[in-house]
Order: sequence, then structure tokens, then C-alpha cells
Amino acid sequence: MLQRWSSSTNRKQILMDIIMNKMKASVKSRKISLKRKENTIMSSQKKKPCFNQIKEELPKENIYHTFKDPGEIYSFRASLLSWYDKNKRELPWRRMAMSESNLNKRAYAVWVSEIMLQQTQVATVIDYYNKWMLRWSNLQDLAKATLEEVNQMWSGLGYYSRGKRLHEGAQKISSEFKGEMPRSAEELQKLLPGVGRYTAAAIASIAFGEVIGVVDGNVIRVLCRTKAIGADCTSPTVTEALWMLANTLVDLVRPGDFNQAMMELGATVCTPKAPLCTECPVQTHCRAYQQVINEREMVSKRLLGNTTSQISSTPDIEECGDGGNCPLCLPEKEPWVSGLGVMNFPRKPTKKPPRIEHTLTCVVTRRRDNDDTEEYFLVQRPNSGLLAGMWEFPSVLLETEVKEKKQKCIIFDRLTELMGNLVTDTHLQNIGEVIHIFSHIHQTYLVYSNSFSDASGDTVMQEDREQPCFRWVSEAEFYQSAVPTSMKKVFRLFKHSSVNEKQLAKGDKLQCGSEKHEGKQKGRKRRAPKEVQGRQLSINSFFQPAAIKPL
Ligand code: SF4
Repeated sequence: MLQRWSSSTNRKQILMDIIMNKMKASVKSRKISLKRKENTIMSSQKKKPCFNQIKEELPKENIYHTFKDPGEIYSFRASLLSWYDKNKRELPWRRMAMSESNLNKRAYAVWVSEIMLQQTQVATVIDYYNKWMLRWSNLQDLAKATLEEVNQMWSGLGYYSRGKRLHEGAQKISSEFKGEMPRSAEELQKLLPGVGRYTAAAIASIAFGEVIGVVDGNVIRVLCRTKAIGADCTSPTVTEALWMLANTLVDLVRPGDFNQAMMELGATVCTPKAPLCTECPVQTHCRAYQQVINEREMVSKRLLGNTTSQISSTPDIEECGDGGNCPLCLPEKEPWVSGLGVMNFPRKPTKKPPRIEHTLTCVVTRRRDNDDTEEYFLVQRPNSGLLAGMWEFPSVLLETEVKEKKQKCIIFDRLTELMGNLVTDTHLQNIGEVIHIFSHIHQTYLVYSNSFSDASGDTVMQEDREQPCFRWVSEAEFYQSAVPTSMKKVFRLFKHSSVNEKQLAKGDKLQCGSEKHEGKQKGRKRRAPKEVQGRQLSINSFFQPAAIKPL
């Protein structure tokens, strides 16, 4: 042991082992005691756990990143829950979780909300959630839907695989478990596709009252700040420590409310930027806040000339007592930054920059002789991978940089592949570009348009070949289809360019009437309008003909 202690890495490991063992022992003993209590708690109404009960569950040492005594846990829970009862936002899934007596329906309602809320803001989710629950109010109804309908409903929410997995999960429960939702976090995680540790714990605690903590982005922030955990919060060590803390802290009587309260606190008070510490119900338990106060006091002392003691630039905090080797503290290389205050926590590794991609895409239109309605050609994406099963304009991902002439050839080849000889390149033209950011891809769509001559209305596609599904849709049908946001942006650019084209033709006729001038105008490329591009054009670029960026 002494030999191991001699190196800094070993010291860190030994300390970590001690902390984790203490925490594990705490949670283990707590689990045993909770098992015993479970029946009593479920049947007894809102009985508060006594001080001695909590005391049994606590680690005795290494309290810097945990809790110093059972009273602190009790007080933390009470303050948070009382704040939550007064301040919680009224959200449709919360109403359902409170009012729905059927456990399967309640769990389904929570499950849908949890999946939709992954990576998406509450404000955006509300509308989607209400529509979804109106259409598929229970598991069985969702199980009967097609993936196409699910994608259609999900359109605009992003991360489409979430809807697909939810649908698969509903089908699985419906066919394999006779519509009965698994009742514990462990089973939920094991049996349902797309349900990870967090989602399983959230469903189990909110819908079934299982005493289990949750750790999502909001909870990570609250816990890292309250317990001054400054090591990389995505590392396995910190992740495990956070789960231990969450499981230690969760309220025994109201686990679902407590978990929601932690997330609510992170979302509305302990926010990533500009946290509202003065309004925080757990401020007295927060080590990050205490560090800020200590730092302020030090600065005041310094200003008053009290420099007799050695005052460092970092706050004189209550150290965790391991001489700088703690695997949960702020790393020595990246110490406390004064200007950041409580936002020193949590610390994340630098994000990998998104992959840069360029894709050619073409809006193909047709107008039938007997009907003046314009229709648009859509192709279905493969059933796996990015935007699985969604509809898009014919597209080709570019592997290398190519000039516009070559781009035209590539997209025209793709159109011929899909539509045969009925398509010509006479009207194929570049209309601009659209940028769309996926979570890990910075995608630039190089947008073309082409019109399809189909006077007879009996379009013959290359159905004999192995082709993806395709269809013609009206504008209204386009917006009702399962098309991703990126394609809606492309479509808006197309509509914008068509309007401009018409106005230009009208203006030319009225003002210029010159064929030469008209030709010049037609030859110009356009950028996507501001609302499509999502970025402001400079005044210079506004007056310049837009050019395709090098790939
Ligand atoms: Fe977060 Fe501030 Fe509350 Fe601490 S005091 S938990 S940093 S809001």
C-alpha cells in the first residue's frame, strides 16, 4: 500500500477507490433498507423518513463531495421539494403523470415525454407532445401506426431515430408483453430499445414510484456545483459518482417529484449561464456558491489592506483534504477561474468540431396538362442511418470538391437513374445553398432545380431497377410528409427563388425588355434567404452575384 501511495497516479486511484467504496457501501446498505421499506412506503401516505433512517444510509468519511450528515440530506430534500411544489411549471406530461391512474398509460405518457425531451427544449416539445398524445393516447395505438406516420409526426423535432425507437418499443410491449410496461428501471432499460439508464430511471421513479435517482444534463450541473465536482463530468469516474449521489439523495416518499425537482432546478435556476443563486432553494448546501462567497471575502480583505496572510488567487475553500489528488476536484491544470464563479462547475471536455459535408440536392417539379398544380419529386431515405425512412429531394453526398459543371453532371446522372430518359438537363439550374447543422455534421446543401416534362401525366419511373421509394407530392402534401427540417429549408429556398424569378421576369419586361440583360439576370445564382440560411449576409455579398463555395 505504502509503495502504491508513493506515486501521484496511485494516490489518486487509492483515494478514488476509497470514495467509491464508501459511496457503494452507502447505496448498497440503502438499497437493502429501501427494499424493506418499499412496501411500507408505497402503502403509507407521505410518511417522512426519520433522521436515523437517513443516517444509516450515509458514508461516514469523504464528505466533501457527498453530504456531511443525514440532516443535510433531509434538509436538501425538504427545501427542494417545497420549492418545487410552489414553482414547478405546468407541463402536459406532469399533468398526465399526476392524474392517470392506469399504470401502463402513465408510464407511456412519461416515456413519450422523456424521449421527446432528449436533446430538445421543453418549449418545443409541448406542442409535439400534445399532438402525439391526441393521436396515440396509449401504447397499443402507437404500436398499430406505421413508421411513416411516426416520422411524419416527429418531423421538425430532429434526431428521428428517437421516434423510430419509441415506435419499436411500443410494438414490442404490445406483442411480447401484452401491453404491460416493465415495472422497474432495470427491466425498462433491458427490454426497451432507445431506453438508457437515465430514461429508465425517470420512467420508473415518476410513473411507478421506484426510489431511484436520475442523472441528466440538468442534474449533472446541479450536483457538480453543489458538491464542487470539477473533474471532467463525462468521465466514467465522475459519472459513477454522480449516479451514487443521485441515488443517495433521492427522496424516499416522493422519488418521482424529487427527480423532477432536481431537473427543474437545473433548467430554471441553476442554469448553464447566469444561474440564479440568490433564488436557489439549496444554496446553503452548495459548495460552488460557498467558494464564490469565500473568494469575495478574500478580495474585500485584500482591498482593505489585510494582506498579512498569504492570499492566493484561488478561493480559500474547504478542501476535500487529499492534497490536490482528488479525482473529483477541479484538475490542477485547469484550476478555479475567478470570473466564472459557480460556472466553474461542471467541466466538460472540448467538443469535437462537426464533420463538414456537402450534398447536391435537386427540387424537381412537374405540372400536368390537365391540372395546373405543381408537384415535387421526393425520394425515401434508407431505413437505417441518418434520417432513416424520411423523404427528401433527390440528393447526392459529394465525396470531393467539384466545380459547378461537374456538380450538374452528378445530379443529372442521379435524376436519370431515378426517372429515366424523361428528365432533361435543359432547365437544370443552381439556385443557391442551404446550411443545416446536425448534431455532428455541418451540412451544406448545394441546391439545384429542374422541371420534369410529363405531359401525359403517366410518368414511367425506373421501377425495374433497385431503387428507393419515390413519389410526387403537392406543396401541401410536402409539408404533411415525413420530411426533415433541412429539406424544408431547401424547399423554402426554392420557393423564394421561384418568386424572385417571376418578379425578375416581370421587371425585365417592364423596365428593360432587353434580351441581353434578361439573360444576365437569369444566369445569376442566388443564396438562400436570410431565414433559410440562418445567417446574415453582408451588404457586399447582397450586391454580388452569389457563388458556390469551394467544397
Ligand atoms: Fe446552482 Fe447557485 Fe443553487 Fe448552487 S446556489 S445549486 S450554483 S443555483
